[in-house]
Amino acid sequence: MNNKAKENVDLYLVAQEQFDRALTWVDDLKTGMIDAFRNPRRTTHVHFPVIMDDDSVQMFHGFRVLHNRARGPGKGGIRYHPSVNEHEVAALAAFMTWKTAIADVPFGGAKGGVVCEPKELSRAELRRITRRFVIALDDTIGPHTDIPAPDMYTNEQTMAWIYDTFDVMHPGQNNRAVVTGKPIELGGSLGRDEATARGCLYATEQLIRRGMAPGIDSIKGASVVIQGCGNAGATAMRLFHEAGARIIAISDSTGGIYAKGGLDPAATLNFKKEHGSVVGLPDTTTITNDELLAIRCDLLIPAAMEGQIRTDNAGAVQAKLVVEAANGPTTPGADNILRSNDIVVLPDIVANAGGVVVSYFEWVQNLENQQWDLDKVQQRLEKRMIKAVDTVVDLWTTIQGDERAPYGTPTLRDAALVTAVKRLATVTMQRDIWM
Ligand code: NAD
Repeated sequence: MNNKAKENVDLYLVAQEQFDRALTWVDDLKTGMIDAFRNPRRTTHVHFPVIMDDDSVQMFHGFRVLHNRARGPGKGGIRYHPSVNEHEVAALAAFMTWKTAIADVPFGGAKGGVVCEPKELSRAELRRITRRFVIALDDTIGPHTDIPAPDMYTNEQTMAWIYDTFDVMHPGQNNRAVVTGKPIELGGSLGRDEATARGCLYATEQLIRRGMAPGIDSIKGASVVIQGCGNAGATAMRLFHEAGARIIAISDSTGGIYAKGGLDPAATLNFKKEHGSVVGLPDTTTITNDELLAIRCDLLIPAAMEGQIRTDNAGAVQAKLVVEAANGPTTPGADNILRSNDIVVLPDIVANAGGVVVSYFEWVQNLENQQWDLDKVQQRLEKRMIKAVDTVVDLWTTIQGDERAPYGTPTLRDAALVTAVKRLATVTMQRDIWM
């Protein structure tokens, strides 16, 4: 039977299904509050014209979804991609609400995007698109309302343009905190570029220390497979390797490579830089992304994109632990299959929260006109990731035997979402926003 055709991997539906599942373990939430948490508070659509390098004028469509800001200003990335759409961005904005709640940083959740093909745009065109987008968003973003960050195909240069445009629009005040992920010289935080992967490492180490990854005693000596070789995946390869793991496979959008004895991260990244892909690195076997997901290993780190582990391929996964560096890489159907095969999943809203934690550090440094040293950033990140994992594992421990129809017993993802929903509910009730 072909399950692939039957499964809907739309990220919005995935997010809704995960939310519905988790609510089964939250007994005392008002119906109205559930509706408020389910839906975004605001979706801003903007259409703006940009002059292109060939002197033509093109219209672009961008949007920003603010899912919730009861715990603080909206926070979340902006992606540039031809297939970016409101549905996907709304799901990612909700993930940000849950992530910021679990990491206990004083933000809500938001996400944005512009429909465009960045690979076909010049630097000057990207700059003009970014500036027009910020002008069109107007005061819906701001240091205390909604704070963007990089995401797919946006980077520190994009953030510098966002800051500069907003600063021109709001002269005479410190505007650095309007956006995170900026270049260091412009108020970016040391350690932000590797924060997601470093957070993943700290979270994984703590999960192992808590005995939640049966069959894995330590990162040292563990075999690791990574899907994706961008900011999250490439940095995870380096950091997990430095922590003593053996990286036996990695992939990018063109395919993957496997080396039983382990890859050398520096050589792999140099090769990718030179040839545009990891595929073809000497002394490795070329594999497909599907083959990569099925490699027997201790840790599988999906670090590419959503909807990668589905009902049609989850049964082939032979990892002991899946660490979701990417957002939404596992569908709910795949979650069930992994669970029945005793494969633990450290969910995205915990595993990749390091990025938003260091974004929070950047925001604090900007508001105080400070620059923390790297040690301070890393120590504080580690402390927060350990606390986030402990909170989720502690809650999971209290509800683990609690079977609720039709879902059975809770997973770590359920425990993480329950933690986030309860934190958001507490603040919402304290603010008494209903009257
Ligand atoms: P990126 O654009 O830097 O890298 C993405 C990588 O995935 C590239 O190497 C690309 O070649 C690869 N890829 C694309 N399609 C693929 C496919 N079908 N199979 C295998 N590889 C494929 O993006 P990133 O910033 O590393 O983000 C990756 C994931 O991590 C996304 O889901 C993102 O939302 C999530 N994430 C990133 C951060 C961050 O700080 N960068 C924070 C939280 C979550």
